[in-house]
Amino acid sequence: MGICGVFVRFRDPFGGLGRRDARCKVRVMNVRRATCSCGQLCVVCEGEPVRISVCHCLACQLRTGSVFAAQARWPSDRVRIEGKQTEWVRTGDAGSKAMFHFCPTCGATVYYEIDDMPGIVAVPVGAFADPSFPPPIISVYEERMHSWVTMPAHIEHMA
Ligand SMILES: [Zn+2]
Ligand SMILES: [Zn+2]
Repeated sequence: MGICGVFVRFRDPFGGLGRRDARCKVRVMNVRRATCSCGQLCVVCEGEPVRISVCHCLACQLRTGSVFAAQARWPSDRVRIEGKQTEWVRTGDAGSKAMFHFCPTCGATVYYEIDDMPGIVAVPVGAFADPSFPPPIISVYEERMHSWVTMPAHIEHMA
């Protein structure tokens, strides 16, 4: 395993807690690692995501090459990024901008940031390659949903 296999402590992810408490918490917190296809670019996320969603919009279909995108959000101070990356900015329907960060070698996006949501990092769920990852709670842009796709029964629907 390369550089992504090394876990370094986050810079003060538990504001307000003492050092000793923070160390104790780090041990019990879930740490997940997302990578690009070739593995050189990785994102390490500490703790549970604050939101997990799927988006069926056409821009997400184009970005992922799949029929919908699934992503999880973390506060940026719980996320650590390692490896070489290239950025691309997408302007959404309502004029908001998102910056996608992807591997210059294999092209896989491993995280993105949305202008309207400072301090939040979104990571494509597939980049964790973990079938036990928690399910999405919100489904967005269902008017673009492919006809054969079904969402989990209790998911929240957003326009
Ligand atoms: Zn790569
Ligand atoms: Zn979308």
